[in-house]
Amino acid sequence: MFDNKDILVLSGDGIGTEVVPVAVEVMKDVAKRFGLTLCFSDGLIGGAAIDQTGSPLPEETLTKALSARAVLLGAVGGPDWDDLPTLQRPERGLLGLRSGLSLFANLRPALLFAPLAAASSLKPELVAGLDILIVRELTGGIYFGEPRGIELRNNERCGFNTYVYAEHEIERIARVAFELAQKRNHRLCSVDKANVLEVTQLWREVVTSLASDYPDVALSHMYVDNAGMQLVREPKQFDVMVTGNMFGDILSDVAAMLTGSLGMLPSASLAADGRGLYEPVHGTAPDIAGQDKANPLATILSVAMMFRYSLDAPAAADVIEQAVDRVLELGFRTGDIIGRGIQAGQTLIGTRAMGEQVLTQIEQLEQTT
Ligand code: NAD
Repeated sequence: MFDNKDILVLSGDGIGTEVVPVAVEVMKDVAKRFGLTLCFSDGLIGGAAIDQTGSPLPEETLTKALSARAVLLGAVGGPDWDDLPTLQRPERGLLGLRSGLSLFANLRPALLFAPLAAASSLKPELVAGLDILIVRELTGGIYFGEPRGIELRNNERCGFNTYVYAEHEIERIARVAFELAQKRNHRLCSVDKANVLEVTQLWREVVTSLASDYPDVALSHMYVDNAGMQLVREPKQFDVMVTGNMFGDILSDVAAMLTGSLGMLPSASLAADGRGLYEPVHGTAPDIAGQDKANPLATILSVAMMFRYSLDAPAAADVIEQAVDRVLELGFRTGDIIGRGIQAGQTLIGTRAMGEQVLTQIEQLEQTT
């Protein structure tokens, strides 16, 4: 674990440059209220870094990230850089950062604030108060397994990939998930395809073998096809779900859509040494960039995750999440979470005003406690 409380702020491109400053204001405010001394620095990544240095991940940014306790990232990319060769594109900066920091555990909460239940594609009663955490292995599995490729076999082209997990890779992601379940509602569902794939038979064996270390966590197993069904049938049955890279990629997007809007979805990626990268799930939204229309709540909620998982300040995280809930309860909405037009009691506001409303509610929460 790192002793320092250095936070590297990487706004990136497009709406990243609008939502990140708003989230940093919230972070500074909450840190002060909780007596946490944080040390902020910033850096370049993505298209902005290409424009200024020629590289999507300048050496200086990676060096700063490696010595920081946590990184807050906006988003990278946009039409200005779409024509660059793949290896020089803004997204390479993000991939380079993830691999440079050895981030193997991706945490994607699907949290539906009750006032937004109507925005979900499911019936409000199925999703109101939804709070699932999907823990996805990020550096192994079929996305990275070798051999891989496309080759000529029997006079036709064959594509192939290798789905491989070593025991230590399964154990370290499972332990992250068990520990998270201990801090939440003590239920962990491991998702695999153990009826067909040997690699996930091993996955199930390893996860099961760890359960005795976490007697306060109820472990269950589910095949991935059933997990997909259950997520849209009765999502509130889940607390923490843990799965491999590809299944996690798919299930986390399914779970995300239960909550209605990209502008509300935070994420965290953690390394074994306690480092963390925190970022909203959304991209740079070029269609609304520079117009003060972006929803900053996904980034603000990513800051809450940073307090919870990298700064060991869960109470600070709770305050931010409660403040967001109250702002929504009061009817404040950015354009993306309005649904079918403004309803009575709702107010359309912009990025900065949304940040101010969150700060106001944080202040009020402090006065009432
Ligand atoms: P996007 O997430 O940027 O936007 C999709 C839609 O959602 C757009 O209509 C956008 O206006 C809306 N939206 C997204 N975030 C919002 C927010 N906070 N508030 C309000 N509305 C929001 O996805 P895209 O359009 O496919 O990609 C745009 C660019 O972002 C591309 O260059 C892509 O490569 C990049 N991208 C980056 C990341 C990342 O940095 N992690 C992730 C996804 C996409």
